[in-house]
Amino acid sequence: MAKILKIITNPNPILRKISKDADEKTIKSQEFKNFCACLVVTMLKKDGVGLAAPQVGRNIRVFAIDTKDGPIVFINPKIVKRSWAKEWSEEGCISVPKIFGKVKRPKKIICDYINENSEKQRIEANGLLAMVIQHENDHLDGILFIDKAKEIQKIEE
Ligand SMILES: [Zn+2]
Repeated sequence: MAKILKIITNPNPILRKISKDADEKTIKSQEFKNFCACLVVTMLKKDGVGLAAPQVGRNIRVFAIDTKDGPIVFINPKIVKRSWAKEWSEEGCISVPKIFGKVKRPKKIICDYINENSEKQRIEANGLLAMVIQHENDHLDGILFIDKAKEIQKIEE
């Protein structure tokens, strides 16, 4: 059964570690499939557009994103192409509560990854989808959006 995982927040050092690729045996394990399901359920419950494994305390290269066609799990993702053209957009992060800022990122990307059925996939993304994939991929390298953001705003309670 998929359950809601606990979200860890900045400055927890887990968020700053470089995560490791999931090996083939891990990807095929029931424990890992459960973990992916929990990641998706947690993302949806928290109304996030994306959630990376380090945000729930696990330094493994996996993240989930929510798209209009439903959630996608990215295992061992690699951004293989980035457009020269960049754009600024407003970002926030469930692990950096109450903070927003503008981040400049490549507009279009191509990302290779493995899905839950151990199949190689490729996605071409632009706009919000490209931004979310890059934001989540940064989590796997210990990077938070506040490292790149300008006009950082704090929402007071
Ligand atoms: Zn984030």
